[in-house]
Amino acid sequence: MKVGIIGLPNVGKSTLFKALTKKQVDASNYPFCTIDPNIGVVEVPDKRLEKLAEISKSEKIIPTVIEFVDIAGLVKNAHKGEGLGNQFLSHIREVDAIIEVLRDFENKNITHVEGSIDPERDKSIIHLELVMADLQTVEKLLEKISKETKSGDKQAIKKSKILEKLKTTLDDGKLASQTSLNDEEKIIISNLNLLTLKPIIFIKNIKDKKEQETEKTFIEINAKHESELAELSEKELDELGIQRTGLDKLIQASYNILNLITYLTTGPQETRAWTIEKGTKAPQAAGKIHTDFEKGFIRAEVCKYNDFISAGSELKTKEKGLIRLEGKDYAVQDGDVIYFRINS
Ligand code: GDP
Repeated sequence: MKVGIIGLPNVGKSTLFKALTKKQVDASNYPFCTIDPNIGVVEVPDKRLEKLAEISKSEKIIPTVIEFVDIAGLVKNAHKGEGLGNQFLSHIREVDAIIEVLRDFENKNITHVEGSIDPERDKSIIHLELVMADLQTVEKLLEKISKETKSGDKQAIKKSKILEKLKTTLDDGKLASQTSLNDEEKIIISNLNLLTLKPIIFIKNIKDKKEQETEKTFIEINAKHESELAELSEKELDELGIQRTGLDKLIQASYNILNLITYLTTGPQETRAWTIEKGTKAPQAAGKIHTDFEKGFIRAEVCKYNDFISAGSELKTKEKGLIRLEGKDYAVQDGDVIYFRINS
């Protein structure tokens, strides 16, 4: 799962990216991740792992990760070729969600491309660029299938109706996500990878932490401050009485907006978090550990995280009857501690 960080130049994207990636992970545990200077693999903070590892006396803790991508090059009129032009768009297409950084800090030495600080205006500029890019995609495709539509091809007609709906939204300067589409329609257009259908998290890069949190739709962060905090260890943060940094909040928010949940496995070797989409059934969840686990799935032995902790040991969870046996139709829940029975 990849989250792209976008915004106008000099708003603090790279500062935020650097802060996020200061806690680099041991890449050998995550073979599927991309190695690229603009991509940072970041652990998803999860306090449950330490507690489970303590009970199981695990040698290792392996958290789950999200990839963040620093995407530069978005400026006003990029769709008309300004700045790097449309180059940045291909990078945005690859991500599953977008973090949009809006500058709300004053600093005379750091120029703002638009000459003043105005997060709402910046947001409109960015959205216009994304909307124009999507409009081009939609119009191109409409054009491409117009022959088939005219000749009465049912699939093409269906598709062009959806595209026309999207075009109306985009023509109005609105995000494609504001179009009302049913599930079937969403699937039909999913391969278009429209930018404005992706979930967005808004970040206001503020000058200090005293500022009131006015709109809940924004996460407020001071990127510079966060990059300094990122230098400190957990222990140092504890000593300073800093519980949870803005970055942790941001990582968590990214995880949530991607509709992801975590299930856990634990034993003497390792305690580990596994990422799945909400609603994933037990065999597919097992398949995250190993593809063979999906085929060989017999059942899942599931204990709720809180029950596991209150029981105090794996043995006690069994004695107290806190373990449920679940079959292939079970939708795994966040915080399930699972042992899969596999036919191998
Ligand atoms: P980008 O172009 O959006 O990637 O912006 P950068 O992260 O490179 O930041 C541009 C400049 O703004 C750098 O000199 C940063 O040190 C500074 N900067 C970033 N975030 C903050 C902040 O929260 N407060 C202040 N005062 N400066 C910041």
